[in-house]
Amino acid sequence: MSNAVLSGEKVVNYIDGEWCESASDKYTAIINPATGESIGEILLSTKEDVNRAVEAAKKAQKQWALVPAPQRAELLYRVGLIMKERKEELSRILTQEMGKVIEEARGEVQEGIDMAFYMAGEGRRLFGQTTPSELKDKFAMSIRVPVGIVGIITPWNFPIAIATWKSFPAIVGGNAVIWKPATETPLMARELVKIFEEAGLPKGIINLVCGSGSEVGNAMVEHPEIDVISFTGSNEVGRSIAETCGRLLKRVSLEMGGKNAVIVMDDADLTLAVEGILWSAFGTSGQRCTACSRVIVHESVKEQLEERLLSAMEKLTLGNGLDESVKIGPVINGSALQKIHEYVGIGKDEGAKLLTGGSILNDEKYGNGYYYAPTLFTDVRSDMRIAQEEIFGPVVSIIPVKSFEEAIEVNNGVTYGLSSSIFTRDVNRVFAAQRDLDTGIVYVNAGTTGAEIHLPFGGTKGTGNGHRDSGVQALDVFTEWKSVYVDYSGKLQRAQIDVE
Ligand code: NAP
Ligand code: MG
Repeated sequence: MSNAVLSGEKVVNYIDGEWCESASDKYTAIINPATGESIGEILLSTKEDVNRAVEAAKKAQKQWALVPAPQRAELLYRVGLIMKERKEELSRILTQEMGKVIEEARGEVQEGIDMAFYMAGEGRRLFGQTTPSELKDKFAMSIRVPVGIVGIITPWNFPIAIATWKSFPAIVGGNAVIWKPATETPLMARELVKIFEEAGLPKGIINLVCGSGSEVGNAMVEHPEIDVISFTGSNEVGRSIAETCGRLLKRVSLEMGGKNAVIVMDDADLTLAVEGILWSAFGTSGQRCTACSRVIVHESVKEQLEERLLSAMEKLTLGNGLDESVKIGPVINGSALQKIHEYVGIGKDEGAKLLTGGSILNDEKYGNGYYYAPTLFTDVRSDMRIAQEEIFGPVVSIIPVKSFEEAIEVNNGVTYGLSSSIFTRDVNRVFAAQRDLDTGIVYVNAGTTGAEIHLPFGGTKGTGNGHRDSGVQALDVFTEWKSVYVDYSGKLQRAQIDVE
């Protein structure tokens, strides 16, 4: 199977431990963005399917919560082992349904494996706190308990990694999960659910409901018995989900867009900076939430940096990501191509100088795939739309600045706050920068991407709503804190009153 070229795949729902169809009987095509060809179809479910999944989850979760956490964790350990065994096969499916190049697909699957083993470890911790009581012969502690039913809504750009960031801590925490994957990337969802099944997860603990955001996603958000929504995706959708959850007093964790910048100071190692910019700006064709889309450069090294970036960009090879020699794959679909191209038009109209790229690639060799030329603008001002709005494609804007202070100000002058980076050899600037950059993730002498799963992942300002995926912090989304007081004095002791 590992070298199979996909075709005729069919993705249906998985509810209560059964692969099942929907009464809707509607399907939509799954497209390989590298070729524009259909590789299968995905079921478009209805609200009724969400309701059935919730019923199954409710029944199963009560039992699951009683399984000791270290045993729940062992299941994740098995999931990790199966993923590891199937890494190459999963990576090839990922490249074909989403488009990222095979090396990056392997990296994404590895991220899921790492998360499985990490969260399996958490099953033997799930630490609360013990603390002295203010009263004699009284014991006090806090413990984590499951929230109940967790709704997970994921985007197409990391179709398996993000699902593991959310489902693994939810499951080790004793919850049942209802998962709606992005309509573009259901194959990775099916594969992950198959792995859970093979690992022996009890039925009803993971339920996959495929379908559109407006029908299935919305039904999950509105469902009174889904206790938490964990969402990664665009700001527009995240905001509307948060509004609904606000009305329902439902817990919601949001990870959304970014407008991430690399700062290149006058003392930077320019060779390293160019490598970091290239990898974080054009990897995954710029479709990472942490992608570098601004380069804030000290004016004294601007020309040198531009020249070096241009000559490095000439060597980037585009094409089908299954080809190991290809560095940059397609973007996800035709409407993404159009959106990216519109932004390039906006940049030109705003007076930014286009150094290279700026076109949809439709030579014969690209077939019906969705390819955009890696694009570099310079002389961009921080207030231009191309320097403020998320483009989500291979487009980078160089913004010249006169000082370190101005670089920080430009970095922070956007509504997003996901990731930032600085290239400098000055240790004083390194520490000032990690203090003053107002993003949730800061890199020093590396690009804006490359998060490791045991650290919290997420952003400030418009990127999120204060929660974090990954790290031990993810458990705060999927568990409830309970404070427990045990009085063994044999008499009524009143807190704050009977204190001697
Ligand atoms: P999207 O359009 O917001 O979709 C994300 C998910 O939400 C999909 O599963 C989508 O379903 C679903 N959805 C759409 N409308 C919905 C609604 N009304 N109610 C409930 N769910 C709904 O985002 P995308 O285009 O897939 O992903 C790109 C965005 O994700 C970018 O903005 C990127 O920055 C962000 N992102 C952020 C992070 C992070 O951690 N900060 C990571 C990766 C991506 P359909 O597929 O059926 O439309
Ligand atoms: Mg696709």
